[in-house]
Amino acid sequence: MFFKKKTIQCSSCNKEIQGGDEFYLRMRYPYYEGSVRIKKFIEVEGVATCLECVKKSSS
Ligand SMILES: [Zn+2]
Repeated sequence: MFFKKKTIQCSSCNKEIQGGDEFYLRMRYPYYEGSVRIKKFIEVEGVATCLECVKKSSS
C-alpha cells in the first residue's frame, strides 16, 4: 500500500527525514495553546535540518 503523506524534508538538501532519523528542528514556540497538533505544527512552522547538513555547516 502506498499512502500519500506529507513528509518533513531537510531545508538544505531536501532529503526526506525518515522515521527514526535524528534531525535538527528550528521552530517557534506556538503562540496559541490547546488543540495544537504538534506534527502539523512542525510541518508548517518547523525548519528541519538533517545531521549531514548540520555537520557540513559547522565544519
Ligand atoms: Zn540535509
